[in-house]
Amino acid sequence: MVPAWVVLTSFCERLISMAPKSSKPDDIVVFSILRESQCDECGAELGPGALLKKEGETALCLYCADLAHLVFLPQGNAALTRRASKYTTLRATIVRFSRSRKRYERQGILVEEPALQKAEADCLADADAREQRRLREAVRREEQDAAFVAEFVDALQRRYPGCPGAEATQIAGHACQKYSGRVGRSAAAKEFAPEAIDLAVAAHVRHRHTTYDALLAQGWERQAARAAVRDAVQAVLEDWSRSTTASTHKKTPSPNGDHIS
Ligand SMILES: [Zn+2]
Repeated sequence: MVPAWVVLTSFCERLISMAPKSSKPDDIVVFSILRESQCDECGAELGPGALLKKEGETALCLYCADLAHLVFLPQGNAALTRRASKYTTLRATIVRFSRSRKRYERQGILVEEPALQKAEADCLADADAREQRRLREAVRREEQDAAFVAEFVDALQRRYPGCPGAEATQIAGHACQKYSGRVGRSAAAKEFAPEAIDLAVAAHVRHRHTTYDALLAQGWERQAARAAVRDAVQAVLEDWSRSTTASTHKKTPSPNGDHIS
């Protein structure tokens, strides 16, 4: 004959285990105290920052409240908090009174240690999956940009056949830089509008084939320096737009010479 208390205990345990997780009490509130206090049951001295549970008018330390086995999970990681809450049987919410805002603010939760470990493992697995996805997307973007730069180089060299290949690649690379807001990334450049290419090439020539940067370094105003090198820039652009002889790029020069349309 099984004693009645064993049947009752086992019945209660089954009831508890059958209870849906969502119905677990979430109303255990623990206060992170601002001023020194004392546990009403064991008399322990509690300093500022200590955790205290109130039961009616009674203040209890975590040991007396049977919450001392729980671990603290600070506020801030929503996924971890959600998962730890799902796995833990017992959970307490920690609040602290904000003197400046004059209200209680949530500091985090107390959960069972195995629950926190399980939640952390889940989140790590997720982070790994996210990282894999991020890498795949980055590679794809990299490829798209490489293709875009190559197309820009082609368009640039059709317009400026005399532009050395290395410089054409450099100009296209700068123009197409991600998030640069440079001309190459504009909608116009995607259609390879002549103006977009001209702007990119002119900027390159100004910096690399004239004294523009030196003038700026000497303290010239930008507009004055631009005006001073305008003819030099124009000369290089004209040279590049017709000549292929000085070019080092891979394209075979046309026997009839190249012309801009
Ligand atoms: Zn106590």
